Amino acid sequence: RITLSKVAKAFGAVKVLHDVDLDIAEGELIVFVGPSGCGKSTLLRLIAGLDQPTTGTISIDGKDVTRVAAADRGLAMVFQSYALYPHMTVRQNLAFGLENARMPRAEIDQRITEAARMLDIAPYLARRPGQLSGGQRQRVAIGRAIVRNPTAFLLDEPLSNLDAELRISTRAELAALHERLSATMIYVTHDQTEAMTLADRIVVLRAGRIEQVGSPLELYNTPTNLFVAGFIGAPR
Ligand code: ATP
Ligand code: MG
Repeated sequence: RITLSKVAKAFGAVKVLHDVDLDIAEGELIVFVGPSGCGKSTLLRLIAGLDQPTTGTISIDGKDVTRVAAADRGLAMVFQSYALYPHMTVRQNLAFGLENARMPRAEIDQRITEAARMLDIAPYLARRPGQLSGGQRQRVAIGRAIVRNPTAFLLDEPLSNLDAELRISTRAELAALHERLSATMIYVTHDQTEAMTLADRIVVLRAGRIEQVGSPLELYNTPTNLFVAGFIGAPR
């Protein structure tokens, strides 16, 4: 369970997040939506520990992690740009973080085998990222998160580099993965359809503030204002 209390972030004099309060339950798939520049990625990076809030606290399972380093938070982040190491094979990419954590070889191999089967990337383990399609690369990026067995997955527009068809199939795979791992997922997108189909709850952000939080149905049926209605595509 991840709790944000009055999390604010400023870059210099510019405030980009204003006192965000949010409680994310174990196993929940929560989606952050909102227009470009509203603070979605910044919020995700703060949760990941890649950056620190100016004020406010972030806790995981009741423990204050606001000043805890990213590597020690037990979370895994998946980026839009994949961020794979181009000079390493897929297997090496998957193993890298685990080797750094000094995990025994047998355990590393077992986790890679399992993730590769889950994501259908077993045939590509010996290839380099440059020899894969966009969809295959994105599955490797997701695999790299899975092998770490994180308490939560943080995904920043993971499908936005894929073409329409692949986006739909990968979205379905992600939903299946969420069911199967019953893992907490925090998912950033500006795609309404993605938000509506994947989310247990949607957080609508606007200019660094939460406008509304609710299930897709709640937001669709009872948006608190025109901004939310417009963003969710509700009839209003
Ligand atoms: P998009 O949908 O385009 O990805 P976003 O909602 O993810 O947008 P953020 O990347 O969180 O938006 O950015 C929020 C605001 O903070 C923007 O105005 C951005 O210019 C600013 N910002 C983000 N990172 C930095 C930084 N390192 N230094 C200064 N300003 C930043
Ligand atoms: Mg972003």
